[in-house]
Amino acid sequence: SEKRKKKVLILMSDTGGGHRASAQALEAAFNELFPNQVECTTVDIWTDFAPWPYNRFVPAYQFMAKNPLYWKAFWEYGKFPPSKWGTEELSNLACHHRFKDCIEDQDPDLIISVHPLCQDVPLRVLNTLGRGKRQIPFVTVVTDLGGAHPTWFHKEVDLCFVPSDPVRKIALAMGLKHDQIRQHGLPIRPGFWKAGKDKGQLRRELGLATGVRTALVVGGGDGIGNLLEITESLASALAAGGSGGKKSQVVVVCGKNEEMRRNLERRTWPPSVNVVVKGFVNNMDAWMGASDCIVTKAGPGTIAEASTRGLPVMLFNYLPGQEEGNVPFVVENGFGDYKKDPKAIGEVVSGWLMSEEVREKMSKKALEASRPSSTTNIAKEIGDLLFGNWQLPLRKDTEDKFNILLKKLM
Ligand code: UDP
Repeated sequence: SEKRKKKVLILMSDTGGGHRASAQALEAAFNELFPNQVECTTVDIWTDFAPWPYNRFVPAYQFMAKNPLYWKAFWEYGKFPPSKWGTEELSNLACHHRFKDCIEDQDPDLIISVHPLCQDVPLRVLNTLGRGKRQIPFVTVVTDLGGAHPTWFHKEVDLCFVPSDPVRKIALAMGLKHDQIRQHGLPIRPGFWKAGKDKGQLRRELGLATGVRTALVVGGGDGIGNLLEITESLASALAAGGSGGKKSQVVVVCGKNEEMRRNLERRTWPPSVNVVVKGFVNNMDAWMGASDCIVTKAGPGTIAEASTRGLPVMLFNYLPGQEEGNVPFVVENGFGDYKKDPKAIGEVVSGWLMSEEVREKMSKKALEASRPSSTTNIAKEIGDLLFGNWQLPLRKDTEDKFNILLKKLM
């Protein structure tokens, strides 16, 4: 008899590029470990199911990421217990029914959240579905690296996967128990699991110049940061002899920031520097593998990916709160630096490109900090839950506050 595939529902929201990339990474690991046995569906539950204004998180995030003061205010607001509580109650009131419809329609065997705002309401929905009887396990895979917002951590999750010691500490401080926490590293897509093709071959395949030193400039999935000024400064430092008089190359990946892409495409560059401008790419592993170093905002996904390619990392910017801890992760592990000033970035990075010795040393440190097996390890443990090799303690059916309120009103 044909066995029914296990259904996994991955909850996220497309704020930035990291959450979707993590969802793709997990799906790929399930397919590799349990071929034809798992069916994954990834849902941007806020954009696709929540009512206004909750369905506007993605554009709001894009706005705030470009305006860090707003971001900081939003971050602190969500952290401060009374406002965190108020927001959770309100969003539960507004979204509970719609999220419930989504989960009931999907009828999953297990739910994974890869987003800080996909714990509270979905877990309340599970409680109203009679979670104790139905045993739908719920796990969180944290996709931040050196720090994480409190809303990532919910005491009722069956497992919470953290990538690092600092994030484990926050999980414990938020009241999670040791036996709920697992630590493997961030999920990354299959192209980052093994050593890639050789640089020369990748450059040929990507249509890049070969035999020249190459820097990659990225601003996350949304192309955040002053990519234009950074590229200009880097190109002029390289042209001014920063690469030892040799030709050099800068690849800029603008992600979803089309305006930035157009601005960069309009520029003329010094003749000794080959500048290549791209929009959103789906083969980041190839672009990283073809480069000698990366200049990026402190996005957790990008840093984890770059470390598996052994790339020295120059960070130019971070989102206050969530990405702050990613700076020491890079600097203290010895594979990069943080500079705000585009001019300083140009100087330091062209210095890296010039010195084989410095690059090799940093590259080794990057590989040491990388966790290429993280995704497989996470998927294996989730698989144990999914295929019943590991039983959940039976939970009591707690009635949701929302339903109690509703009953009172009726
Ligand atoms: N990314 C991509 N194509 C692009 C730009 C970015 O696939 O053109 C991916 C990148 O490889 C990484 C993710 O988007 O996996 C960005 O995640 P990160 O955590 O670095 O930053 P976020 O965009 O989530 O703030």
